Amino acid sequence: MQIIKNFKELTTLKAEQKRHFVPTMGALHSGHLSLIEKARQMAQPDDEVCVSIFVNPIQFNQADDYENYPNTLEADLKACRDAGVDCVFLPQASEFYPQNFSINVTETLLGKNLCGSTRPGHFDGVCTVLLKFFNLLKPSAAYFGEKDFQQLAIVKKMVLDLNLNQNLEIIGVPTFREDDGLACSSRNLRLSSDQRATAPKLYKTLTEIKNLLLTGKNWKSTHSTSKEKLERAGFTVDYLELVESATLQPTNSVEKPCLCAVAASLGDVRLIDNIIIQHG
Ligand code: AMP
Repeated sequence: MQIIKNFKELTTLKAEQKRHFVPTMGALHSGHLSLIEKARQMAQPDDEVCVSIFVNPIQFNQADDYENYPNTLEADLKACRDAGVDCVFLPQASEFYPQNFSINVTETLLGKNLCGSTRPGHFDGVCTVLLKFFNLLKPSAAYFGEKDFQQLAIVKKMVLDLNLNQNLEIIGVPTFREDDGLACSSRNLRLSSDQRATAPKLYKTLTEIKNLLLTGKNWKSTHSTSKEKLERAGFTVDYLELVESATLQPTNSVEKPCLCAVAASLGDVRLIDNIIIQHG
């Protein structure tokens, strides 16, 4: 497995190579590995699977969140090797964003609600880092988790709006869950044992909401009872929203394919999850 640590070493990558790219911030868990597995499945035998591990400073709203982001590099490299990754890119923030860095991608539509409303600039930081990665690695496909559905939708939109789609396909991968339904996340390790026991209620509630809405219950009452239920279980709910999956705009009806998305904290650990709701 090749490990690339700076832009100069990137020149050793073959230009004509078909590359399947999985961007991550490290602290790899089974969710990340499911993306790598999907990339490996989609790749032809001669194609390359490339993983980046980079904690992107410009997508964080709070400095301490960035500074305390877990770093498990040795274990991550082993996991990549074991998963058959061909190349890992580990850029340095100082080279990636030199002092005179002054151009950013701005998204103005899909990033307004859900996580965007409490994390100003977050998705602009995500788009900017990804556009740089796409330019540097020239992948033919890039893989993103549906757990971060809003991120996936914004990346797809950027690829369309900035005409990157002729050479690049964005592939969404279903959320990988623990046996009790909790979506895998590096943040789960920060939950106390009591909080860990409560955490699966997030997905359980989303599943109940899906069943209620598909059997004709209205969103307003479902929303208030579900939010109360989460709060009684100990969550602080940041948002619980129903949006159209195609536009991410709020809706009250499940006539068109929808997404019910939630962000809620247990103590200082913020968890996000979502469920797709569609008839048929
Ligand atoms: P991160 O390292 O948190 O930036 O995540 C890197 C990629 O892994 C993103 O595309 C996430 O959506 C994806 N991811 C994180 N957790 C999961 C999960 N439980 N299932 C599927 N994909 C995930």
